Amino acid sequence: MSISTDLLIIGAGTAGLPAAIEASNAGARVVLVEQTDRIGGTLHVSAAQMSGAGTRLQAARGIADSPQAHYEDVMRISRGTAHADLVRKAVGLGGSTIDWLMDNGFEMAPECPAILHFHEAYRTPRTCWGVDGGRSVLKVLRALFDDALSDRRIELMLHSEAVELLWNAEGIGGATIRRGTEGPSVDVSAGATVLASGGYGGNCQRFADWNDGLPLYTAALPTATGSGIELGLKAGGRLVSGQHHLPTFAGIVRTPGQPWIDWDSLPQLTPQVRPPWEIYVGRDGRRFVQEDVDSVDARERALAAIPDLTFFAVFDDRIRRDAPPLLPGWSADALAAACNGHASFHVAKTLGELAGATGIDGSGLADTIETYNEAVAGRRPDPLGRQHLPLPIAEPPFRAIMMHGMVLKTAAGLAVDEALRVLDLDDRPIPGLYALGEAIGGGTLSGNAFVGGMSVTPALGFGRWLGLSLGRAAVAGRAADAVTV
Ligand SMILES: Cc1cc2nc3c(=O)[nH]c(=O)nc-3n(C[C@H](O)[C@H](O)[C@H](O)COP(=O)(O)OP(=O)(O)OC[C@H]3O[C@@H](n4cnc5c(N)ncnc54)[C@H](O)[C@@H]3O)c2cc1C
Repeated sequence: MSISTDLLIIGAGTAGLPAAIEASNAGARVVLVEQTDRIGGTLHVSAAQMSGAGTRLQAARGIADSPQAHYEDVMRISRGTAHADLVRKAVGLGGSTIDWLMDNGFEMAPECPAILHFHEAYRTPRTCWGVDGGRSVLKVLRALFDDALSDRRIELMLHSEAVELLWNAEGIGGATIRRGTEGPSVDVSAGATVLASGGYGGNCQRFADWNDGLPLYTAALPTATGSGIELGLKAGGRLVSGQHHLPTFAGIVRTPGQPWIDWDSLPQLTPQVRPPWEIYVGRDGRRFVQEDVDSVDARERALAAIPDLTFFAVFDDRIRRDAPPLLPGWSADALAAACNGHASFHVAKTLGELAGATGIDGSGLADTIETYNEAVAGRRPDPLGRQHLPLPIAEPPFRAIMMHGMVLKTAAGLAVDEALRVLDLDDRPIPGLYALGEAIGGGTLSGNAFVGGMSVTPALGFGRWLGLSLGRAAVAGRAADAVTV
């Protein structure tokens, strides 16, 4: 069986949905294929904090901002390692993307736009998010998408995985789509094929292959397999930005031995929100970072130097009683249950026992705590420069919670030019093949850092831009054919 269309979009997520909406608005015929049984992709779990400069909301709040200022902030935070031309394009689209969401009923959280500290802070309040995170963005996209579907301008194929790209005389001319897990295949021939298939944060093997063998701890969905990137590579594309992986600070696994981070119940490790009462130690029992340093980038880089991206938050019983909750999303019952069975949680009568239970080096831990307690007592400065020293770690039982540097988006992806055409090994565009969203690599727009909002906003903005451009081109091409005939 085969289908013909103007535009084939692979992946009905953050980038694929706006691309489909705008291409169909431009009058193009669109086939959108999605391997799962629902549209939305990562928007179902993403916080979807977006960054856009020059929004109407900023103007209404008297916040002066511009794409140039946003660009400079991205390049400062990424230390110049993000792709400058693509960042310029992304920040140029960011403000209008947020305004477009607002025009279409987006329910913005009332405290936006803000400066946040979960990722390295911007200098200007430009971060916006919905009252229901990514699901607020999806609500807007779904309404627009449903309109286009009901007008039969888009054909949506769920349970449909792109398994191979098809070549024709000009270049990539569509893809083979497998329906269901073992269903029949359909060849979709298309004037343009767009890889909007997301990253690979749900795939341990690809993560190790494309990120120097690192272990994966992840809040991404298991459907983030990287198969679309793989298709682009098989078509001759080039992998970029893999060297830019930086772990996000930090989470606890749902089930020990598995890579899945409990995203809904993250520990509160942002010192601007909750100054730390615990110390963070590696398996050698040594602290590896000043826990209250303002810069999350500094904490993430220190964590990246630990080969298994694993550390322990260590504290005592008095800190447990007196400190604001380290795990605000956990009920007392859930915490008690975790301490009795979850292998990331440890309680012990002595520091030696705690070391034995966790595998932390005992003498390293004892030295570290002795030195830390002296700093708390004011007998010497903290060796790492920590300022927030509320209580010593002295009262049994002692506790340690194992935490990991985690993935929210994956760094590596397909090289593209500013028209989002996939580039081959010689930097030439592969005709007919485009990519956007996480498929172009999270490191492309954030470089060797985590720049807030620089995944969801460009996925939406590039999606709209590419859908409109390819949609218009398809309609113009058809009109030209009609004239020729
Ligand atoms: C927990 C979490 C929090 C985050 N918070 C933020 C944030 O606050 N701000 C921010 O900017 N970024 C954030 N991110 C990252 C951001 O959400 C993602 O990078 C972005 O949503 C990815 O968009 P995408 O369109 O590229 O991929 P997705 O939205 O994942 O869509 C890809 C779609 O393609 C489908 N697909 C894949 N392969 C195939 C195939 N071969 N055939 C058919 N379909 C296929 C998938 O099933 C999926 O539906 C977060 C990510 C996570 C996991």
